[in-house]
Amino acid sequence: MDVVTLGIFGGTFDPVHNGHLAVAEAVQSALALDCVLFVPVADPPHKRNRALTPAEDRWRMVKLAVANRPGFAVSRVDIDRAGPQYSVDTVQLLQREFSVGAGETFFIIGADALAGIPHWHNPQTLVERCRLVAVHRPGVKPSIDALLAALPQLRSRLLWVEMPPVPISATEIRRRVARGEAISRLVPAAVADYIARHRLYLSS
Ligand code: ATP
Ligand code: MG
Repeated sequence: MDVVTLGIFGGTFDPVHNGHLAVAEAVQSALALDCVLFVPVADPPHKRNRALTPAEDRWRMVKLAVANRPGFAVSRVDIDRAGPQYSVDTVQLLQREFSVGAGETFFIIGADALAGIPHWHNPQTLVERCRLVAVHRPGVKPSIDALLAALPQLRSRLLWVEMPPVPISATEIRRRVARGEAISRLVPAAVADYIARHRLYLSS
């Protein structure tokens, strides 16, 4: 893929859902990005409180979700290297792979995750390497003042993309599957099939 402007969308994607796709679409069209790269992370430094679904399953579900969507792709960069995989390194590795610079790299993040950025590994370098594109998330009121106080370098590196709120979370999807409830409105059909066939999330 020839890429001039790159969106990097990291997450556990356990599973990928329609909220993620809506975020990617909103950011892609607002910024006219050539590529939005979904980056499932094998061993996220901040999600060590529960066992994640194997990375291969999460990666395959993202692959199914972005199939036939021009401009969306999935990277294995945070699956194939040893963890914990810090985003600051992810960005650098992808910039080398796609030959893009800081001015062409946009790190996509929901408001809940944005609030945690000052606690990430080397956040100053992260915001030097790329701009952050934030989207609001239903039920999340980020304290931007606190965020900018903790990471003043972010001020000139943060932009917001407006989108209709999508009240979907992977946590809720896992709960619904464990209770035997339908998820067909929450994930692409191919992802719902994958979850059923591989008997994922049956116990929470
Ligand atoms: P979980 O409930 O397991 O944390 P999740 O739905 O939050 O899952 P993640 O893989 O944690 O999904 O999220 C990846 C990225 O997508 C994060 O930046 C998160 O803020 C963002 N995101 C996920 N769902 C939404 C949504 N419905 N609206 C806006 N941003 C979202
Ligand atoms: Mg989350």
